[in-house]
Amino acid sequence: MRILQVCAEIFPLLKTGGLADVAGALPSALQDLGGDVRVLLPGFAPILEGLEDASLVAELVPPGALGTAPARLLHGRLGACNTEAYVIDAPGHYRRPGGPYADGTHQPYPDNHLRFALLGWTAAQLAMGLDPRWVPELVHAHDWHAALAPAYLRAAALTHQGPLPASVFTVHNLAYQGLFDGRHFAELGLPDHFFAMHGVEFHGQLNFMKAGLYYADRITTVSPRYALEIQEPEQGCGLDGLLRDRAHQLFGILNGVDEAVWNPATDALLSATYSAAQLAGKARCKAALQRELGLRKAGRAPLFCVVSRLTEQKGLHLVLKALPALIEQGAQFALLGSGDAGLEAAFAEAAHTHPEAVAVRLGYDEPFAHRLIAGSDVIMVPSHFEPCGLTQLYGLKYGTLPLVRRVGGLADTVADTRLETLDHDATGFVFDAFSADGLLQAAARALALYRRKADWTLVQRRAMALPCGWDVPAAHYLALYRRLVT
Ligand code: ADP
Repeated sequence: MRILQVCAEIFPLLKTGGLADVAGALPSALQDLGGDVRVLLPGFAPILEGLEDASLVAELVPPGALGTAPARLLHGRLGACNTEAYVIDAPGHYRRPGGPYADGTHQPYPDNHLRFALLGWTAAQLAMGLDPRWVPELVHAHDWHAALAPAYLRAAALTHQGPLPASVFTVHNLAYQGLFDGRHFAELGLPDHFFAMHGVEFHGQLNFMKAGLYYADRITTVSPRYALEIQEPEQGCGLDGLLRDRAHQLFGILNGVDEAVWNPATDALLSATYSAAQLAGKARCKAALQRELGLRKAGRAPLFCVVSRLTEQKGLHLVLKALPALIEQGAQFALLGSGDAGLEAAFAEAAHTHPEAVAVRLGYDEPFAHRLIAGSDVIMVPSHFEPCGLTQLYGLKYGTLPLVRRVGGLADTVADTRLETLDHDATGFVFDAFSADGLLQAAARALALYRRKADWTLVQRRAMALPCGWDVPAAHYLALYRRLVT
């Protein structure tokens, strides 16, 4: 089956969060199961630089204001991602200093609606045969950046002779919707009647995410529990009604771990490799990490870590509040993150106050994320909401027990450690109340287990042995595609 994946970022070329990890791993996993996969991406500099053997597919002639900057479609191979790709080379839209979505001062680009409408529109052109040598049978769009693909496909169906591919839209985070002033709708070249409650309009605004949710043939999200949560007002971000209406076409498929990238037995970024059977290397990773961070070298002090975007979603103010009590009980703490200036300053201050027990590295650092997760004992993910979460999965895989809030994909992937679960399925520490007290109660269980070496190792080995590759989720996606492609 010819499958077109449409997304805005892809590991290892361009990554701002978990979306890139998924986009980087899913194509290979689908190919392993026999899928014929290509990825469509905007021509951001790192993506164009990663495109090998590029050839011109077509000059693009987009409608409305999308066509204000010249654009052409290239085909080639993204060797680093092990996939064939189409890349939209439109320097006016995508070649800018700053990030893919916002400038150097974190201000979203004012023409983001055009930049990402072009992505969705181009997907629909490919679906209509823009590259006659490869016409997709299924279009799979990811998050709001690609969410207009199903809308343009639906619009194409109004005039196109012959069959068009089915579409799947995956929500990686419902909180980021791509909301724009309603007047911009006229610039997109979509039929007028699409700007309606039954369409892309959202309380007078233009909502890309809603377009994906409304027009895609099937909707998926990245964990079964999040699929249920987003149908309720609390986590539905205003779109829960639409999601309830489409409940029978909405599925939760858990993300996997790319074991070519995240595997302690083969990870070349670590000072020592290790496995569930041979854990000695993990102690060496911890000692090296404590040295690197200037923490007191204490094998017996449990080391808690966080690797995260610093945003309200991630619940890190709970960690800040809990930190003095954690240190008081002999724990150490290390954080890698960037984002909210207030949180950055508060964590830096904590490290300044407790240099022997707290280390903070602000910024984005992929190799250090590996060293930090491998060298720590516990990884904390106390999110307010969490569609899937990947760092707790990396924690499981690296024997760094996750301490998580019981929400979204965190609840689906971590089993709490209690007396009755210790010999059964315990893999981490789970709490309910979104409070520092809730977190501290789970931390108390982590500290107690840490003092019981044999029990700790039992849970650690179980966590490391959990199957978490991309083979299972890819099989679920393929089964979903097959039901749509007759
Ligand atoms: P989200 O997509 O909401 O940011 P996920 O847990 O799904 O959260 O994915 C986050 C990804 O980004 C993980 O691969 C994590 O290791 C990585 N990451 C987050 N912050 C940093 C950072 N400061 N440096 C390196 N990697 C980071």
